[in-house]
Amino acid sequence: MSAPAKEAPTASALAHNYHPLPVEIATGEGAWVTDVDGRRYLDLLAAYSAVNFGHGHPRLIAAAKLQLDRVTLVSRAFHNDRLEPFAQELAALAGKRMVLPMNTGAEAVESGIKVARAWGYRVKGVPDGAATIVVASGNFHGRTTTIVSFSDDPSARDGFGPYTPGFRIVPYGDAAAVEAAIDDTTVAVLLEPVQGEAGVVVPPEDYLPAVRRSCDEHRVLMIADEIQSGLGRVGATFACDLVDVVPDLYLLGKALGGGIVPVSAVVGNEDVLGVLRPGEHGSTFGGNPLAAAVGIEVVRMLATGEPQRRARELGDVLRARLETLIGHGITAVRTRGLWAGVDIDPTLGTAREVCERMMAGGVLAKDTHGQTVRFAPPIVISEADLQHALDVFEASLRP
Ligand SMILES: *Cc1c(COP(=O)(O)O)cnc(C)c1O
Repeated sequence: MSAPAKEAPTASALAHNYHPLPVEIATGEGAWVTDVDGRRYLDLLAAYSAVNFGHGHPRLIAAAKLQLDRVTLVSRAFHNDRLEPFAQELAALAGKRMVLPMNTGAEAVESGIKVARAWGYRVKGVPDGAATIVVASGNFHGRTTTIVSFSDDPSARDGFGPYTPGFRIVPYGDAAAVEAAIDDTTVAVLLEPVQGEAGVVVPPEDYLPAVRRSCDEHRVLMIADEIQSGLGRVGATFACDLVDVVPDLYLLGKALGGGIVPVSAVVGNEDVLGVLRPGEHGSTFGGNPLAAAVGIEVVRMLATGEPQRRARELGDVLRARLETLIGHGITAVRTRGLWAGVDIDPTLGTAREVCERMMAGGVLAKDTHGQTVRFAPPIVISEADLQHALDVFEASLRP
């Protein structure tokens, strides 16, 4: 009897919703990760800024381990002793008084939309079912059916209808277009203060202040999606801080979980967040003790101002070096703190090809929208490692 036929090397059992670089990571420490063959790479993506404080930050790991031995999940049916301190400290960091805890970024966005609509009907007096929200072209707010309904990226949207109504898309960076789109049904303007997935797109300096003024004038909520731009990345706690704008609601996620657990939140004041009544909104995992324990530690680190200062200083290094490459392999660079979108000269190949060359040189980065490479290293990266990563990037511009 012949041996049973060996199964052919299996195709991946994963759904094909990603096209990752061909590297299999096994461990990580600080700005470095190591693959299954023991090869080390500098991580210049930091999980889309969810790992702002680096892989395995000792303070965050310690907080998580301590909480693992206490209690990890009780649901919001009961109180847990980590959640109220987390809410208090996060609210204080944001200069607000109320926090709605969720898990993923998309859930924070969905929650912000629900809160804005409920506020519109119950406080502003918009006729039931008529609420509209103004959003920007090129936005990225997540992947739920409602959120992709107001995306203008065909790959995010096409094939997933029917779409949720109630959104108006206006050009990003154009405050007059926001003003023109607002009418009596408008409950909110929802924006990224810097558009991350679009390629670190920085709006004109007066954009956010002008949107803030329109919102005030027409009694409309300003909702800042700081899920990627917030919590240190731009050299300030929030990207809105850079232009002295205070939104009505902050949407936070990614780095809030310290790269350990998904933690997101809507942060605002009781005049808006207070519209929610018991039973109207919730989440089984939202505000769980493990998430809250890690979140408290993240907030305490940010409360020192140290990550923000570091992102600012390293960001100056990043910008200065990238600007020397304009006309020498890159066509444009946009930066805010330790965050850059770099447009690759198409004659040198696609951004994906540049990322593949960088990977061969021991640096991991991610392309977006064909010709753009995004740099968002962990804020704990050393200046020498950052310079090294930029050496590798420069070499990767030569095919
Ligand atoms: C990543 C991101 C989201 C979605 O967060 P998930 O945790 O992936 O659901 C929303 N908004 C912005 C600006 C993001 O960068």
